[in-house]
Amino acid sequence: MSSSASAEKKAPAAIPDGTTDYKPLRSGPAYDPAKVHIADTPMTWSNWHKHVNWLNTTLIIIIPMIGFISAYWVPLQLYTAIFAVIYYFNTGLGITAGYHRLWAHSSYKASTPLKIYLAFVGAGAVEGSIRWWSRDHRAHHRYTDTDKDPYSVRKGLLYSHLGWMVFKQNPKRTGRTDITDLNEDPVVVWQHKNYLKSVIFTALVFPTVFCGLLWNDWLGGFVYGGILRIWFVQQATFCVNSLAHWLGDQPFDDRNSPRDHVITALVTLGEGYHNFHHEFPSDYRNAIEWWQYDPTKWAICLWKFLGLATDLKQFRSNEIEKGRVQQLQKKLDQKRAVLDWGTPLEQLPVISWDDFVADSKNGKALVAIAGVIHDVTNFIKEHPGGKALISSAIGKDATAIFNGGVYLHSNAAHNLLSTMRVGVLRGGCEVEIWKRAQFENKDVSYVNDSTGQRIIRAGNQVTKVVQPVASADAA
Ligand SMILES: [Zn+2]
Ligand SMILES: [Zn+2]
Repeated sequence: MSSSASAEKKAPAAIPDGTTDYKPLRSGPAYDPAKVHIADTPMTWSNWHKHVNWLNTTLIIIIPMIGFISAYWVPLQLYTAIFAVIYYFNTGLGITAGYHRLWAHSSYKASTPLKIYLAFVGAGAVEGSIRWWSRDHRAHHRYTDTDKDPYSVRKGLLYSHLGWMVFKQNPKRTGRTDITDLNEDPVVVWQHKNYLKSVIFTALVFPTVFCGLLWNDWLGGFVYGGILRIWFVQQATFCVNSLAHWLGDQPFDDRNSPRDHVITALVTLGEGYHNFHHEFPSDYRNAIEWWQYDPTKWAICLWKFLGLATDLKQFRSNEIEKGRVQQLQKKLDQKRAVLDWGTPLEQLPVISWDDFVADSKNGKALVAIAGVIHDVTNFIKEHPGGKALISSAIGKDATAIFNGGVYLHSNAAHNLLSTMRVGVLRGGCEVEIWKRAQFENKDVSYVNDSTGQRIIRAGNQVTKVVQPVASADAA
């Protein structure tokens, strides 16, 4: 015990990042750092039951199974069904609007009555105390997808859904976070210290007594409003850790696993725009468009209207759009990178005019346009303007012909032409100057994308000459 106390004393100096050690407020088995934690030993047939967190397993698997079995003998009454659905939404909001957006992310401020309500219905979801849940969730955001993420989807979809609760975790492996604000919140501290009592009352006693007193369905209230509702709320909110990191798009950043999907939003009371959420975690919204499904956001807005919630945090749309544009740019670069834009000019050999003419006479169908030599041998028969017109340009400078002297070629024609380039003409004006600058390592103004590839914009191809020069060939 003394060794653990001295280790705790040393910790703040070792990690000067403002985080605090997680000190249990409730009494429990003392953590002994000298002993190897069961989670760090391989699971075998003889020790698997030691790996299982039996309390969690009872709460999230065994009791729901009993509920499903007993539902066979307990008829579902209409009023009880309506109550169960309404209470489902309330306890779900306890997690999404309370545990998640209020306490884990401080995305708005709640008045004390609202906090008490959220702590009450949040306990009814049976997912741990606010303090415990928020601390793990802050670690999840700080260390997403790493070993310090308590429910990293990299360990498997089922693990991120409930495996992390079914099996014991070494608490020292979870990333460090700062929860000083939660330790100063009397509602959070009270709920944490009285968690088991809170759960029994809000999750089971309240629905049983409510349905029993009002329409005499004590058993239905217990089974449907209690046990089965708990199961549905748990499975729904667990999807934020699993489905939201597995299914959907990544419009803001694709380096980590969080994703946006309407199905996740429908299942999780609006927590489905998770790629946005991980980028802008202190925004009280998950869905930023009015037509997207985010009842948690709507509830917070309603509470603001009623004067119960204030200081709703929102990122400026300028910042949100910047992230979206950068991700679009990244996707665009990936699409551009797989296309054939022709051999880069700096990799082409410099060919003299005499060699160009001589090669053209010796059977190679070479055409010079804007100082770049193209081999059109395989294209002659496919030329949309016919064989004769393209053949007449072989061995010549066709800059003017191509750029309107005979026909003003399309953007697509310039793109296609670039895939046929084989050399740069010595004395080929701008092109050679540009190429020489490359050799001499001078600064040449052109734009590269994030993959290092030059961006060729429409109308900016090297073969595009805006004002066609009159030449003898064109006449
Ligand atoms: Zn997440
Ligand atoms: Zn979050």
